Amino acid sequence: MSPAVRVRVPGKVNLALAVGPRRADGYHDLATVFHAVSLFDEVSITPAEPGSGLRVSVEGEGADLIASGPGNLAHRALAMLADRAGLPCDVDVAVRKAIPVAAGMAGGSADAAAALVAGAALWRVRADDVDLASLGAELGSDVPFALRGGTAVGTGRGERLTPVLSRGTFHWVLALSRTTLSTPAVYAELDRLREARGDAATPPAIADALMQALRDGDAHALGGALSNDLQEAALSLRPELARVLEAGNDLGALGSVVSGSGPTCAFLARDGEHALDLAASLTATPEIRSVRCATGPVPGARIIAD
Ligand code: ATP
Repeated sequence: MSPAVRVRVPGKVNLALAVGPRRADGYHDLATVFHAVSLFDEVSITPAEPGSGLRVSVEGEGADLIASGPGNLAHRALAMLADRAGLPCDVDVAVRKAIPVAAGMAGGSADAAAALVAGAALWRVRADDVDLASLGAELGSDVPFALRGGTAVGTGRGERLTPVLSRGTFHWVLALSRTTLSTPAVYAELDRLREARGDAATPPAIADALMQALRDGDAHALGGALSNDLQEAALSLRPELARVLEAGNDLGALGSVVSGSGPTCAFLARDGEHALDLAASLTATPEIRSVRCATGPVPGARIIAD
């Protein structure tokens, strides 16, 4: 029997997230800049006896919050891949989580992407036969980015990607929250706030200043250009996040932003040493459960050797 395949996959932060009006299908048109950061989940798959089916186990950060059965996105990804490739799906899947769950870092999408890469390698599925990015987009809007990693502009629901020219490495501090946030609830809150104000959402676009900061590898400029249309809605649902952002700003972060639909907050540091200082100081903030230092951009889902 073939040995296990182990895949490592990063979480993401959104350096910009512009949300357009709600579409007829319930989704919103987005323009976002995804940025993969070095907080990694690991998905391992091991062939099992014929007829034994698909079994998923989960351990690590927030494992108790997510399904280990068919509700797990890694399970759905492998079942779909086997179906498209016309293969039986008898594997044991082990998901080791470090990306916080329901925290705006696309951990579920990351695990789906990792499972696709692992399954394609184990079953020798050729890219000509099954396009993993298209299959990924069916599983979730953030899955194509988790396959690719790096820094990329996402449009549509976020699944249409264009790589971004970016120089150097950026140093981040991620403040993990004591609470979770549901992505649909945050979008619904944004719609509610916009309606209450009579705001007409404009077509989403990314500011030139952000793209220029990435091209220049200029952390100071990038810090000033971070933006997220979902931040106001996330803060409306979790007002304590305002104190978290304020704490990072007071401690000298170059920029701060709620990641995706939150509640994780991302702080940009000058360099690795500054990130360590910032992380150490932020641990004193009562609203923060824990902090992580991370760098970006990093590659997407990749096989790792034992
Ligand atoms: P989104 O990807 O919608 O932005 P998020 O990044 O905030 O969401 P995720 O960690 O992806 O949050 O979790 C979203 C939901 O997906 C969770 O509520 C969880 O129940 C479900 N889920 C299913 N499989 C997984 C998985 N392998 N890891 C994390 N969450 C999963």
